Amino acid sequence: MLRKRVTWSVTIAVLTLLMCLGSFSAYATSFYDVPDDFWAAPYITNLESRGIISGYGDGTFLPQNYVARCEYAKMLVNASGLKLSTKRTSPYADVDVNDWSFPYINSITQQMPGYQSTSPGDSRLYFKPWDNATREDVTVALMKVMNYDLSEYYPVDDSLLSDVFYDYNTIPKQDRPYIAEAVKQGYITGTQEGTFQGGDPIIRCEVAAILYRAFPNDNTAYVDSVNNNNEELPSDVALGNSFVKVYYLNIGQGDSEFVLLPNGKTMLIDASTSKYGKEICSFIKNLGYNKIDYLVATHPHADHIGGMNEVLNNFEIGTLYMPNAVTTTKTYEQFLSTIIEKNINVVEAKSGVTIFNEDTMSAFILAPSNNEYKDLNNYSAVIRIAFGNTAFLFMGDAEIESENEILSNYNIESLWANVIKIGHHGSSSSSQQAFLSKVNPMFAVISCGADNKYGHPTEQTLNTLNNMGIKTFRTDTDGTIIFASDGNNVYREY
Ligand SMILES: [Zn+2]
Repeated sequence: MLRKRVTWSVTIAVLTLLMCLGSFSAYATSFYDVPDDFWAAPYITNLESRGIISGYGDGTFLPQNYVARCEYAKMLVNASGLKLSTKRTSPYADVDVNDWSFPYINSITQQMPGYQSTSPGDSRLYFKPWDNATREDVTVALMKVMNYDLSEYYPVDDSLLSDVFYDYNTIPKQDRPYIAEAVKQGYITGTQEGTFQGGDPIIRCEVAAILYRAFPNDNTAYVDSVNNNNEELPSDVALGNSFVKVYYLNIGQGDSEFVLLPNGKTMLIDASTSKYGKEICSFIKNLGYNKIDYLVATHPHADHIGGMNEVLNNFEIGTLYMPNAVTTTKTYEQFLSTIIEKNINVVEAKSGVTIFNEDTMSAFILAPSNNEYKDLNNYSAVIRIAFGNTAFLFMGDAEIESENEILSNYNIESLWANVIKIGHHGSSSSSQQAFLSKVNPMFAVISCGADNKYGHPTEQTLNTLNNMGIKTFRTDTDGTIIFASDGNNVYREY
């Protein structure tokens, strides 16, 4: 009898334990294909309970399945707390505004950009939402969201990551700084064999582990800091159907950039040599413009102001911005006398000057900040034009001395740009990687003449740009280069 009772109570105890385990197990993993003892079960469970990832309607999680780019966009936005985009226009030809993925993809266009079409005549961007996210896609987008300072990893050479991954050369060079920081932070570990397997698709349980390590709990401080930055971002309504367009003109060994602003106003930065004055004027007239609202003569070298007389004589000029730098050349003296003769409104170009600052767009002058430089190039007016979430930086011929002053006067928020017009025609006297890494551009433009006698651009500058993964265009080989911004994305137009 006694024996039976004991057996009975043991049975109840075991049953109760089993029930507890049963309910715990149901809580621990809601998915019947994710066993409790599966290495990624804790990550999957945690992220699922926070609404960051979800399984499928049939109760599976399919932990070994690949992750599509649009699926990862949603996971990353959910995990990081980035605000969902409220925009109603799609930057991508293959993402419809009515797709479920649209707000997620649109929230992280900066961190997880799409692809420029490579078909001739097609200037559209594509996101390729159902392509598998690669291992570096996932890591780089995460690290961009987290916004670490990566300057210690530049310039990127082969020793970066070679100690960590045998197959480091499967990782695109421009992605390596992000991967290196992700390893340092412990977000990724690579495989047990010490490989990264760049270019390979990543599976769902691995993504869960990475996102959990990066966002182990609801980090409201982090979320707030991300979203506060986003608060200033204008919505579609404010931007309307407007664009900034920048023409980097193919005008030999010199500089000339024509900028069309969303409000219909125009800016011309430099006018190359006198030889190209007429060409620059007819280019702008052919676009249908008779007024230059903002004319910038970055500095008084002949390859920047040579065509200015032609410009002053052919256009109504709003305001002319030029630095307080003098030289004794004939070109410069002629330029000055036309300014006086035409009674042009002149404003000194120097650090801190605002050219315009409206709701969604601004143009500020970041340099020069000094009154005396040994080299005339360092008097160059450096201009940053911002429109919505995008920005363009124009360096004139500013050299390292000026770059360093800009770095000490401005923080990353007022310096970063999607596109940089490289200083001094790609000479090695400019474009140190410490500067470029703060600007962090996707694209660079070098304005130079074919086979010029100065050897511009130099191998050193091209290598720096290449090592940093900055896609570079040159007027001598690409002709006139056009970049457009809709306030959210920058893309090349043909
Ligand atoms: Zn120059």
